[in-house]
Amino acid sequence: MSRVPENPILRSPSSVSKWHDLAGRVLEGHRLTAVEGLAILESGDEELLDLLAATYRVRHRWFGNEVHLNYLINAKCGGCGEDCGYCSQSRVSQAPIARYPLIGPEQVLDGARVAAERQARTYCIVTSGREPGAREVDMLTDVVPRVKAQYRLKICASPGLLTAEQAARLKAAGVDRVNHNLNTGRRFYPRICTTHAYQDRLDTLSAVRRAGMEICSGGIIGMGEQPSDVVDLAMELGVLEAEAVPVNFFQPIAGTPLGDAARESRPTEEQPIVTSAMSGARLSPRYCLKVLCLFRLANPRCELRIAAGREMHLGCLQPLGLYPANSIFVGDYLTTKGQAPEDDYRMIEAMGFQVVEA
Ligand code: SF4
Repeated sequence: MSRVPENPILRSPSSVSKWHDLAGRVLEGHRLTAVEGLAILESGDEELLDLLAATYRVRHRWFGNEVHLNYLINAKCGGCGEDCGYCSQSRVSQAPIARYPLIGPEQVLDGARVAAERQARTYCIVTSGREPGAREVDMLTDVVPRVKAQYRLKICASPGLLTAEQAARLKAAGVDRVNHNLNTGRRFYPRICTTHAYQDRLDTLSAVRRAGMEICSGGIIGMGEQPSDVVDLAMELGVLEAEAVPVNFFQPIAGTPLGDAARESRPTEEQPIVTSAMSGARLSPRYCLKVLCLFRLANPRCELRIAAGREMHLGCLQPLGLYPANSIFVGDYLTTKGQAPEDDYRMIEAMGFQVVEA
């Protein structure tokens, strides 16, 4: 009788991979360490499917196969006095974008209608600028109750740095959540902006929390940071227990300092992983997936959103991003285009996932 060859996987002392072991510990309450976070980003591509499968267990625990859609309106574009090097709306940007002052409440209401039609769960109202002036806060406190009276939408406002008093007014008007991205790790922050500090952003998030609203805060990956900066950001958001974490993948916009620099960048010794993961100015889709796994494992219960750069950087691997992430934007981003909503719905359905509205 011929012998069945031994299966090396069945023979191994444990058939549970290190990523499933890590996911299992996260599910039991383990808080990801910096060493583990870095190991995720530096893991080999041959481990990627295993890492995704393990991370999906964590996503599934809290969200099943749900996908949350977000629809964004840029209610005031450009004219910002800050110098964020990635932003097409900053004072140092020459990017040819349509700059316009604060739009009126009727246009914001019209955006809410589109959000509802597109099955969005959250309507994100964004205004450019370091902080909101009285006009921006008045507009939000006027329009948010009207939106909520007409549509079943969560409201996320993104008006910049907030004082405690402004945060309290937004909360009283019915704003559910405030977006204010930390953008990158503390160490790297001065390389992307000099007109305000990382601590200013943390102070705003603290004001949001004290006012009783949810925190939406994430970052932009691929601006020349080290992987350890990405890990620092993911862990900082874990400490803040941000309810929503948007992960943007850097889209170099011509006319912005970081956009122009990225277009000319070549791998350097100082930036071995991120730059070598880039081809020209592009992040590798596999690195982007590892980043999403990192953010999920560092923030197990958050609404993890694949934000701007999804189409550009994940490309045909976009659907795999929904294993760690449970949220995407439907429609355009602040000043860049998103793919057609129908493509998003098709992708979600093909994955066997379901859009869940508010
Ligand atoms: S504060 Fe906001 S709008 Fe102003 S430059 Fe920075 S990211 Fe752009």
